[in-house]
Amino acid sequence: MSDERKSQASSLLATHHPSRITSVELISTGSELLSGRTVNTHAQTLAQKLRPLGLNLTRDTTVPDDRAAIAEAVRDALARVDLVFVSGGLGGTSDDLTRDALAQLTGAKLVRHAASLAALEKRYAAMARPVTEVARRQVMVLEGGEGLLNPVGLAPGMMLPHDGKTIFVLPGPPREFVGVLETGVLPRLGKMGRPVFQGLEKLFLCTGLGETEIAERLEKIGLPTPEIEVGYCASAGQIEVRLAAAPEHARLLETQAVAVRTALGAAIFAEERIGLEEAVGRLLTAQHKTLAVAESCTGGLIGHRLTQIAGSSAYFLGGVIAYANESKIRELGVARELLERHGAVSEEVARAMAAGVRTRFGADYGVATTGIAGPEGGTVEKPVGTVWLAVADAAGTVAKLRCFPTTREHVKLWSSQQALDLLRRRLEEF
Ligand code: ATP
Ligand code: MG
Repeated sequence: MSDERKSQASSLLATHHPSRITSVELISTGSELLSGRTVNTHAQTLAQKLRPLGLNLTRDTTVPDDRAAIAEAVRDALARVDLVFVSGGLGGTSDDLTRDALAQLTGAKLVRHAASLAALEKRYAAMARPVTEVARRQVMVLEGGEGLLNPVGLAPGMMLPHDGKTIFVLPGPPREFVGVLETGVLPRLGKMGRPVFQGLEKLFLCTGLGETEIAERLEKIGLPTPEIEVGYCASAGQIEVRLAAAPEHARLLETQAVAVRTALGAAIFAEERIGLEEAVGRLLTAQHKTLAVAESCTGGLIGHRLTQIAGSSAYFLGGVIAYANESKIRELGVARELLERHGAVSEEVARAMAAGVRTRFGADYGVATTGIAGPEGGTVEKPVGTVWLAVADAAGTVAKLRCFPTTREHVKLWSSQQALDLLRRRLEEF
């Protein structure tokens, strides 16, 4: 890009409305993305790379390999934002139409990108093969734009100024998309001048409350407001609540965050993106306490999650996967009579497991899970998904019954989450 264009781009960033500048749209091209054959991963990759620069991906549009559809999607995106990414369709085959669509839209001619052509010729010479016309088509870029050398493939990307806005074009294969993004796009975005606007955000990670329950509580305190946006993201056994505001509403955001803390109370386990196992680890560390686990239906998942955290040896002593009744008796000292009278999935057995593992490991806390993960083995009284969880400590043992009528995999995940949450709440009482 010429110096004149460069300064055009940065002055644009300085004068336009902030949200226009920090908003980015992606047009993903490819009929196979719409056919169910390929999962579109570019939006996630791009959003993750742009966020640290203060840029937000606000729309991802997927269009088929169709010249008119691509041109229309790019035109629409440019009407909303100043920075548009287009991915895919840069190869040399008949279904690669992105270049043509952009030539049609901008009126620019196609020219060869010299550096990419040299790389292509070198590659073909190394294979002792003549360069084909189809291969040559891949190194065409739009005149007035800048070719971005592809570090892992043949087709270069492009940076294309258009009507005071910028279009970045990237190849479709994920490795090449990331390659050009990292070596070509991100350094140039940095040079264009980092946007001044950076939205403010407050995060609340919650367990033990459903999404609708959380939304109701927040509605009661008047959220969302015109200034404070509220976003929700639910996954197995936890919900992320996000408050977002423009920088001029920083004080209001703080006030609202205090209100959210009161409204959601103990359901909040973190205010940053960490797992429940890490939140529990921090509490154990702060209180200089240790933990051992007795896992039946979770099959070691809790131990796995805890040991994913570096430094967990400071508080996690170990555990027993006590799946069979005999191992509950032998390894944890659960009385045979309890198992016979109440069954393995019962409050009594969960309590005995937690207390047993605590004693055997000499830990401050013992955590236990016992449940019916399914799909077989459920009864009317104890349907699939019935789980008893228990936490034992010096003050005694608490137990909780939960039922998650879902798949085996999810029962395990939810159970591990609920058990860690029971422990967390116990730890927070002190
Ligand atoms: P090529 O030179 O390989 O044809 P291209 O730039 O023309 O590259 P496409 O033809 O659109 O890119 O896509 C090539 C392959 O990359 C697709 O077959 C698909 O497997 C993968 N791909 C393209 N777009 C995406 C996407 N958004 N998410 C994940 N994979 C993608
Ligand atoms: Mg292609």
